[in-house]
Amino acid sequence: MQFASRLDNVETSAIRELFKLLGTPGIISFAGGFPDSAMFDVEGLKEASAKALNEEPGGALQYGATEGYEPLRTQLSAFMKTKGVDVAPNGLIVTTGSQQALDLLGKTMISPGDKVIVEGPTFLATIQCFRLYGAELISAPVDADGVKTDELEKLIAEHQPKFVYLIPTFGNPSGAMLSLERRKKVLAMAVKYQTLIVEDDPYGDLYFGEAPPPSILSLSQAVPGSRELIAHCGSLSKVLSPGLRIGWMIAPAELLAKATMCKQFSDAHTSTFAQATAAQYLKSGRMPATLANVRKVYGERAKAMGAALKRELGDAIEFTQPNGGLFFWARLTGANGKIADANVLAKKAIEQLVAFVPGAPFFASNPDVSTLRLSFATANVEKIEEGIARLGKAL
Ligand code: PMP
Repeated sequence: MQFASRLDNVETSAIRELFKLLGTPGIISFAGGFPDSAMFDVEGLKEASAKALNEEPGGALQYGATEGYEPLRTQLSAFMKTKGVDVAPNGLIVTTGSQQALDLLGKTMISPGDKVIVEGPTFLATIQCFRLYGAELISAPVDADGVKTDELEKLIAEHQPKFVYLIPTFGNPSGAMLSLERRKKVLAMAVKYQTLIVEDDPYGDLYFGEAPPPSILSLSQAVPGSRELIAHCGSLSKVLSPGLRIGWMIAPAELLAKATMCKQFSDAHTSTFAQATAAQYLKSGRMPATLANVRKVYGERAKAMGAALKRELGDAIEFTQPNGGLFFWARLTGANGKIADANVLAKKAIEQLVAFVPGAPFFASNPDVSTLRLSFATANVEKIEEGIARLGKAL
């Protein structure tokens, strides 16, 4: 079959091949990017969906506005207020997961050949999605404090990108958190170069200790001329349920209008049933307890994984302990002649019935084959310890 040429730029993910092996019986998987199904507030969601059907069956089951279900937009506006962002309900649109917000940004902003700066490493689906629209991706390096702003500025000046895509808080896969100082520098750069900054923030609520610095969007409110240069994507996937497919985008009015037009031709609107359920859930007041619970459980798992990695892999691995999100990002050092290529280790690991994702596919350019991503979200502490011991054996 003769497919559209835009597909020429995109390969099916190397990771998919690995995922086929995850059904092997007895395997402990640190490979997925899923939250733990056992953490879902099923009772709360049952109540919320029943209320949605009882109180507003017309709204919950009928076609709805492309921009989103009004009561949900109102709740999301209030939710953002708790995170220091002033946004009116009509200043955001509801999307089918934040993944759709990224797709709409690609559709509205990227012409073939346009340059977009992303972090190296960054979210794999974003790489694929932006490439589908013909973007030329340029990677800016990341360290434990997030994207290196000096390097970023050089790249912006050199390439004049259409926009910069960042996951500033507990990046996937980097787990890194952009420091407050660097957030301010990013905002200054946005103004200086008049560059749109896309802030993807599905993990900002998932912190284990101290709260992270305010989002770039929140900080933009104090920097004249910068707010109009930020598009911010939020999601309920990681803290409440990814199956609901509720995300949102806050962006300048002109951009929101174009994105809404594109969404209309794509899925008309996000499921009104899911939106009405999410609205009832946020209204019910259960969210703070849900957030406290996921922070506690994932925090314990992250701690256990960090300790097990140190114990079982010693100086053969380097990593920064993440303070939130779902992932460890690590590098094999090759110390004492141990394996330094994560692809090689991934195969040996499967033989020992443990899985993780090699890091190379997360780089839009210059892949580092010594890197890997380990999710601590879905296995409990006992499984984490067993799985990391197996990884030690594989190494
Ligand atoms: N952005 C990042 C950085 C992610 O890790 C994910 C989920 N893996 C998404 C966006 C998409 O999430 P969703 O569509 O479920 O909101």
